[in-house]
Amino acid sequence: MQANPDQQQRFLFEHANVRGELIHLDNSYQEVLSRREYPDTVARLLGEAMAAAGLLSSTLKFKGSLILQMQGKGPITMLVASASDRQELRAVARHEEGELEDGELQALCRDGYLAITIDPEDTDDRYQGIVSMNHASLAGAVDNYFSQSEQLPTRVWLACDGKRAAGLLLQRLPGEDEHGDPDAWGRAEHLASTIKPEELLDLDSREIIRRLFHEETIRLFDPVPVRFHCQCSRQRIASVLLAMGREEADSILEDEGRIQANCDFCGRSYTFDPVDVGQLFSEGGIEPPGRTQH
Ligand SMILES: [Zn+2]
Repeated sequence: MQANPDQQQRFLFEHANVRGELIHLDNSYQEVLSRREYPDTVARLLGEAMAAAGLLSSTLKFKGSLILQMQGKGPITMLVASASDRQELRAVARHEEGELEDGELQALCRDGYLAITIDPEDTDDRYQGIVSMNHASLAGAVDNYFSQSEQLPTRVWLACDGKRAAGLLLQRLPGEDEHGDPDAWGRAEHLASTIKPEELLDLDSREIIRRLFHEETIRLFDPVPVRFHCQCSRQRIASVLLAMGREEADSILEDEGRIQANCDFCGRSYTFDPVDVGQLFSEGGIEPPGRTQH
């Protein structure tokens, strides 16, 4: 077993409108697993979801995050993986208690849907697309997402063995085919489909590209490191409290003496005592609509 560093590798077909991306996750994935105990099946799906989020975030053209979210009626009830434009990944899942057998995606997340959200940092311009999830695998659900939405034709291949995760993305670029090679997309898709999960996990990016596309001229970009990082902060929790309103905050303070919030992704805990809360609402000065004071 070869260790692949946590990184993303972009590549381009020199003579066709096709681009690609490979991702390998090792430590960043282990960081997520170290924060919560998951059954093997859930852990593997988390790895695939992190790889997918990382791959899809490579298309972001602004500061912000891409969030991949699954929701269903169990045994996995919720799974979120997000990736920022700075290649920072985080993920969390919720599931029913008890034994969890291996199975196809639609059995693991019954009546589920997959939502992909693009969340720019500087504007409120959120974009979200949702598809139902009647697929055997997450890769199939993501492929379906792209074929349902009016976006560039895109395919992904994902793998996770519970220790490492990896993924491959191919995307057909817009524009006229100036290369006189209209079959390139179909050919690339077909070649990529021959990759086995073990190969995706074990081989390094250059070797994967060499094996799959050795008859094509490929331009390789510098690999970019990927890491686990949670974007939670005291300020973000404070803005949630402000949105919740003074009345509810006071009622929690009355019951508990303080407000404690734990981040689902990293487990970090944030505590606000009555002084913090008082300060927050006087400084924040934001009253929820309809509660203007006279
Ligand atoms: Zn956090």
